[in-house]
Amino acid sequence: MEPLAKTGGLADVIGVLPKKLNEIGCEVRVILPYYKEVRNNLKRLKLKVRDLNRDVIVTIDWLPYKGRIKETTVEGVKVYLLANDNFYDRDHLYTTPHGDYRDNDLRFGFFSIGALEIAKALNFRPDIIHCNDWQTGLVPIALRWKRHYNNDLFFKKSKTVFTIHNISYQGLFGKDLLDKFGLSHSLFNPEQLEFYGRVNLLKGGILTSDLVTTVSPTYAHEIQTKEYGYGLDGVLRAVARSGRLAGILNGIDNEDWNPGTDKALYAHYDPRSLEGKYENKARLKNLLGFNTNGHVPLIGVISRLAHQKGIDLIVRALHRILDLGAELVILGTGDKGYERLLKQVSDDYVDNFRAIIGYNEAKARRIYAGSDMFLMPSRFEPCGLGQLIALRYGAIPVVRATGGLLDTIIDYDESRDNANGFIFDHFSEQSMLNTIERAITAYHDPPEWKRLVKNAMAQDFSWKRSSREYLDYYKTLFAGG
Ligand code: ADP
Repeated sequence: MEPLAKTGGLADVIGVLPKKLNEIGCEVRVILPYYKEVRNNLKRLKLKVRDLNRDVIVTIDWLPYKGRIKETTVEGVKVYLLANDNFYDRDHLYTTPHGDYRDNDLRFGFFSIGALEIAKALNFRPDIIHCNDWQTGLVPIALRWKRHYNNDLFFKKSKTVFTIHNISYQGLFGKDLLDKFGLSHSLFNPEQLEFYGRVNLLKGGILTSDLVTTVSPTYAHEIQTKEYGYGLDGVLRAVARSGRLAGILNGIDNEDWNPGTDKALYAHYDPRSLEGKYENKARLKNLLGFNTNGHVPLIGVISRLAHQKGIDLIVRALHRILDLGAELVILGTGDKGYERLLKQVSDDYVDNFRAIIGYNEAKARRIYAGSDMFLMPSRFEPCGLGQLIALRYGAIPVVRATGGLLDTIIDYDESRDNANGFIFDHFSEQSMLNTIERAITAYHDPPEWKRLVKNAMAQDFSWKRSSREYLDYYKTLFAGG
């Protein structure tokens, strides 16, 4: 949950959706593990944390594990933090540079059951328990299939919603997970929790929730196909057939992402006056050591360095992108192989390419503001927030036609009047290059480009619409009593 802990877009969603739901009449509480990162951010932001003086106990493998409930408030949203230093006082959330934490089953099983126990300890009876990604899979699984929870009167009226933010992360564990969490061995079959010899928490969450959502309409279709379903396409086709699958586009927080007020920027701007944007570009170029004068487009990339994001395509085409007469800056962290590769090539090009390895929000903001184009050649993209932020900052998205990118970007050649970016279909260097070239051609027609930038900046992908949609779906779960 932004600003407490973040690895990607999920944090942005939880940072805003609860706030927006509160504004339209819901009473939302968020539950998070009390990660080390959360503790550090609370300190940094000078947010007060209250120890509620209450413990919850979760039994794992017959042993009682204790969690302490803490509470804080983030922009009016009440957040409960489940503290257990043994599980969460670590440098990373899920994965270290050397791989996943080996006890992630315990860490997130404890969290899921702990969340139910927190609701009980605080006597907060939720109408909706909205779970996100495999880390929370055991919540609906327990409510449906775990003894004591499946007939617990406390949750009798609660409905579960499960949001898939990225189907490629599924939470796969050995069969012993069933013993650890007191689940029957009879659940270990392909119709229920088994997935090719392992327990799949995402699959369990999908099967046992009242409603499954994902973060864009196109992704909701894609995950029902072999190409994008990561082995769960059959399960999702069944869920869709039963009318339990919905695609709801994410939004961005327009107050937070606002080039008119963003404190990280060198100058402020809005669609009516773009002078500030040009100044951001000049300062950014200076900082990057790009000393070209004149009219050269600057392309930004801000991304997790992961296979999903098509970083390999950029690396392979790098030389040719720069040959098209563009400059390129990449900000990202993630896969060590990509990090090394990018550092290596960064040394080869000093004038027009820089790779900044690291996670840095202020730098990200300056790149969104200083770039003319924003490149996102994703293999798949459940929703994608990068392109939405880029639109708001007037950096024209150049994206691959997949998932939420397809739902948010309209290609320049499709409709000049409504266009806000450039799209390529085929995941290949050549398609990407052709499309970057189209964008660069448009860039060299300044009045036309300015119109495109203004169009892009005027678009509204705020949470207002999405939060209403979530609320409407929540309500359907109670229709008919
Ligand atoms: P995903 O959730 O798959 O990583 P999204 O596009 O949905 O991708 O969200 C990515 C979010 O993380 C955006 O807000 C983006 O600005 C931010 N981000 C990604 N990498 C970095 C980085 N290295 N430094 C700062 N922000 C980053």
